[in-house]
Amino acid sequence: MRTAILSDIHGNLEALEAVLTACQAVDVDDYVCLGDIVGYGASPNACVERIRALTDRVIAGNHDHAAVGLADLENFNPLARTAAVWTAEELTRENADYLRTRPMTVEAGDTICVHATPYEPEAWHYVFDAQDAEACFRLTDWRLCFLGHSHVAFICIAKGRRRETGSAATFSDGCRYVINAGSVGQPRDLDPRAAFALWDRPGEEVRIVRVGYDIVGAQTRMLNAGLPPLLAERLAAGR
Ligand code: ZN
Repeated sequence: MRTAILSDIHGNLEALEAVLTACQAVDVDDYVCLGDIVGYGASPNACVERIRALTDRVIAGNHDHAAVGLADLENFNPLARTAAVWTAEELTRENADYLRTRPMTVEAGDTICVHATPYEPEAWHYVFDAQDAEACFRLTDWRLCFLGHSHVAFICIAKGRRRETGSAATFSDGCRYVINAGSVGQPRDLDPRAAFALWDRPGEEVRIVRVGYDIVGAQTRMLNAGLPPLLAERLAAGR
């Protein structure tokens, strides 16, 4: 069984299609989506519909909530707010209802999937680095935690007091893991390629995968939709 964990697609259909093609090429047979399907990008409906057809395990993100009136736009910077308002107008009623009814977490056994953090998921805390991951280890006791939200892809391993970070891990007894799947549609770790996490079972390995995609195509669609040019430009820089 191979599970792909996709987060922060942000309405970027070009990136999502490239990721799904890459997943098919390595026989992924199971998908989880960690939220923020919409916001920023020009294809919110198409991205929601692709994800809906793929899996039932789809979690709410703060941009999903903002686009359907569940989150206060005052916490958003002006560009994100502009995109959220555009997205709200663009979403079909059916897709908006779908986003409105996503859960905050999906849990199974010793594993939790969440958009932001496993503690206070509704507070939308960010996990940018090992220090941020530390709070997840300290405040919860999940062995495996898959999360997104910061758009920075990395894996943090806790073994006793030791901490290691990297882009791949083989699960072993006595260790705990925070896996930040990064962002499919708007990476911000200076690598503009789409990111997702690939979990191999029963091999019990997880790694971050990066996939090149048609950035110019995504940018053109955003500019044609009248979205802020800065949001399109940043795709090329991965920041
Ligand atoms: Zn996001």
